[in-house]
Amino acid sequence: MPDLLQIGGVTDVMRERLEAAFTIHKLADGAYPAEAITHIATNGHDGVPADVMSALPNLKMISCYGVGYDAVDVTVAKARGIVVTHTPNVLNGEVATTAVMLMMACYRELLRDDAWVRSGDWEAKGNAPLTRSVDNQTVGILGLGRIGQAIADKLAPFGTTIVYHSRTQKDVAYQYYADLTEMAANVDCLICITPGGPATNKIVNKDVLDALGPKGTLINVSRGSVVDEAAMIAALQEKRLGWAGLDVFEAEPKVPQALRDLPNVVLLPHVGSATVETRAAMGALTVDNLLQHLSDGSTVSPVPECADM
Ligand code: NDP
Repeated sequence: MPDLLQIGGVTDVMRERLEAAFTIHKLADGAYPAEAITHIATNGHDGVPADVMSALPNLKMISCYGVGYDAVDVTVAKARGIVVTHTPNVLNGEVATTAVMLMMACYRELLRDDAWVRSGDWEAKGNAPLTRSVDNQTVGILGLGRIGQAIADKLAPFGTTIVYHSRTQKDVAYQYYADLTEMAANVDCLICITPGGPATNKIVNKDVLDALGPKGTLINVSRGSVVDEAAMIAALQEKRLGWAGLDVFEAEPKVPQALRDLPNVVLLPHVGSATVETRAAMGALTVDNLLQHLSDGSTVSPVPECADM
């Protein structure tokens, strides 16, 4: 059987299917037969460290358990003839739900009001302060791709006006902003859902945050690298930015204490797609890609850069 290097975790169903086709070695176990490894199964967070990729002379394929692949150097992989696959579409609805849930939690102060009941404040102090309505807001989507569109769809019943920024204008009815700061100045809520990597590094900077302003809400379900985290923390502390709902962080799982101490944030441990149902669909596609590559050299869902391989 061919040898597969497993980076990060897999579900039981994935393991069962993989064990029937591959001899599995786990990076976490330390030693693995570098010369023999032809396939890798990894996830969006761990990706493939550069030293691991260069230590595998016979690597032919990397299957990512996730849609984001910024932690894999696709340029190096492609130059070596290594095809990279990912799991687009099957997680669109789930990640969109996470974004909308964070927005609702910020607007309706879900955590504060939950604490109001648990702490006895309701009995001691009376009704909780009022919150903000999520209805009829203008929401700017940074990255109107597969998931961005799903977010727009999920917000439609709330009477939301959707506007967006990306590198290219799409064939949609929503208003397009070529300039991100200008869009931030004209929305109530900014939702980030671009890929990570150098092209989007800290594109949500101090200027964008100040444009969003004290009544603005920032939601980030993309990658921690997309937002200048230090600038965001300062803006939230100084009330130059109103609220933030965050699923991703610059150095996750490390989250700055200053951010954890803030009352105007809702923090999630990178669980955008993390439901049993969606992880099952992502796991199935991750393994389908590996097995198809094993059988005839083709793949189901290559990353765009590898579509011609
Ligand atoms: P798509 O490729 O379908 O969409 C990406 C969008 O981002 C496109 O609209 C693209 O438009 C835009 N974009 C890309 N680069 C830039 C840039 N430099 N500046 C502005 N806009 C840019 O991807 P998906 O919707 O499937 O996924 C998006 C990302 O969501 C993933 O790459 C991943 O990082 C993140 N994600 C997070 C999850 C979580 O658990 N929190 C789960 C799943 C995904 P254009 O090409 O015109 O610029």
